[in-house]
Amino acid sequence: MHLDCFKEVKQLTEMLVRVPSIVKTSGETDCAKTIYEWYAELPYFKENPEKLQLVQTIDDEIERYIVLAQVEGTKGDSKKAVIMMGHLDTVEIDDFGYYKKYAFNPDILPSKLKKLNISEEVNEDIASGEYMFGRGVLDMKSGIAGHMYLIKYFSEHREELNGHLISLATCDEEDNSNGVITALKVLREMKEKDGLGYIAAINADYSTPYHEKDDNLYVYFGTVGKLLPTFFCTGRETHVGQAFGGLDPNLLVAELTRLISLNPDLCDKAHGEVTNPPISLKQSDLKEKYSVQTATAAYSYYNFFKYSMSPKDVMDKLKPVAEEAFTNVIEYVNKRRKKFYEMTNCTYTKLPWHKRVYTWEEFYNELVAIRGEKFKTSLLSFAKELNEKHPDMDLREFSVRIVEEAWEWAVDKSPAIIIFFSSTYFARIEVTGETEKEKTLLDSVKESIALLQNEVENTIVTKMFYPYISDISFMNLSDDVPSMKALELNMPAWGTKYFHNVEDILSISVPVVTIGTYGKDGHMMTERVHMKHSFETTPNLAYLTVKKLLK
Ligand SMILES: [Zn+2]
Repeated sequence: MHLDCFKEVKQLTEMLVRVPSIVKTSGETDCAKTIYEWYAELPYFKENPEKLQLVQTIDDEIERYIVLAQVEGTKGDSKKAVIMMGHLDTVEIDDFGYYKKYAFNPDILPSKLKKLNISEEVNEDIASGEYMFGRGVLDMKSGIAGHMYLIKYFSEHREELNGHLISLATCDEEDNSNGVITALKVLREMKEKDGLGYIAAINADYSTPYHEKDDNLYVYFGTVGKLLPTFFCTGRETHVGQAFGGLDPNLLVAELTRLISLNPDLCDKAHGEVTNPPISLKQSDLKEKYSVQTATAAYSYYNFFKYSMSPKDVMDKLKPVAEEAFTNVIEYVNKRRKKFYEMTNCTYTKLPWHKRVYTWEEFYNELVAIRGEKFKTSLLSFAKELNEKHPDMDLREFSVRIVEEAWEWAVDKSPAIIIFFSSTYFARIEVTGETEKEKTLLDSVKESIALLQNEVENTIVTKMFYPYISDISFMNLSDDVPSMKALELNMPAWGTKYFHNVEDILSISVPVVTIGTYGKDGHMMTERVHMKHSFETTPNLAYLTVKKLLK
C-alpha cells in the first residue's frame, strides 16, 4: 500500500462515530466542531488558519455547520482544485430499539448484536473481526475519516500536489441537503477569491454488495438522479347512501399506484445500467376526520430514479400513465355502476366525467388565463404566508397545500389529476469523457485502480452511476437549462419554500466520482464497515487519484 493509513483512519472513524450526529439534532454541530478542532490542531492550519472554515448553513431551520479544509500544494502554481466530500450527519437510531444506547459504541455493539442472532451473515461478520459496527460508521463517517487523513498527509507533503485539495464535510445530507447547498456558495467565493478552477469532486459515500456472493469493490462515476412526481387527484364527493353518485379520488390514487409502483417499464436506462423502478412513498386523501362522505381529494407520490431522463422527460412519461389510470377508473366504475343499476332495476347511465389530466404548469397557466393576475398574486401570497406560519412544514405537504389552494380557483370542478414535483431535486450526473475534465477524471481513476488492483484481493469494478441519493447531485448538472425550466414550472413550492440554485451549481460544475466506504446494511442497526477496504483501500485509491488529478 502507498499509504499506511489503516490505524489512523480507524481511530478517526471511532472518534467520529462516538459523537452522535443524527440529522436535525444539535449533534450535527458537535460533529462539525469535532472535525474542525481536529484540523485546527494540525500545524498547517495553525500557520494558515484562513484555509480552515467552519460555516453555519444559510436559511436553515436549525443551527448547524459544515467544515472546509484546504491544502495548497507546492509542486507547482496550478490553480486546479479537487473537492473531496462527505457528510457528517447520520439517520436516526429508532431501528436500534432497546439497544439505542450502544448505537454509537463500536466496542460494545457487536457483542449485543451477537446475542440477537440476527442472521448467519451478521454473526459471521462479527466473528471475522473484519467489520466495525455503529450508526454512521459506514454512512459515512469512515469516509470523512479517510479525507481527514488525506488532508493531514498532504498538508505534510505539499510537494506532492500541484494545485489545491479541499475536503468538505456537510451536514443535513440525510434530509434537505442544506449543508451542500451552503457549501456551493462557499466554494464559489473561494473560486472568486483564490482564482481556483475546480476539476473534480470525489465523494466518499458508501457502497455495498449487490448480492450475498458479491465480493467486488465499486467505484462510481456520475450519479443517479431523483424526482418525486406527485399526483393530486380530485373526485366528486358523495354520501355512502348514494355510492355511485360521485367519484372517489382514492380509486384514482389506487390505480396510479398499481400502474406506477414497481413498474419495470418506468425504469430509466443508460450506459447499460438500469435504475430501480419507481415505488410508492405515500398515498393519502385529504379528509381530516371521519365522516360518511367520500373524500374530495387525495394524493400520492412516488420515488423516481433517473439516469438519462430530464424533469421534462419524466413529466412527458408520466402524464400518459395518469391518463390511463383515469380512463381505467372511469371504465371500472361504469362497469360496477351498470351491474348495480341492473340489480336494483334502475336505468343505467354512464358517469358524466372523462379523463382530465394536467401538469402543474398547464393547470397554473389555465388558471392565469381565466382568472388573470389576481390568481397569480393571491396564490403567491398564500404560499408565502403558509411558509412564514409553518416554516418547518414538510416540503411535500407544503406543495400539496398550494395545489389544493389553486384548485379552489378552478372554474371546472369536474374530477382531475394534477401532476407536479414536490421534493428536493437530485440531479443525475453522467461522466462520459466528452469534456477534458471528464476525460481526465476517468483516466486518473482508472489508472489509479490499475496501480492498486494487485495489492487488493477483491476486484475493483467501475460503474457509471452511483445508485443512491447523495450530496454529489449538487456538484453538476447533466440536464440542460430548458429541461430544468420544466422542473421550476412544475414545482408549486418553487420560489417560496424551495429553490434549486442552478447558478451556484453551474459555477462549480465538476465531474464526479464516488470512491467510498464499503460495508453492509446502511440505515439498519447492523450497519457495518469493512475495515480493510474502508480504512486502507479507499483512502489509497483516493490518494492516487488526487495525485494524478493534481500532478
Ligand atoms: Zn450517506
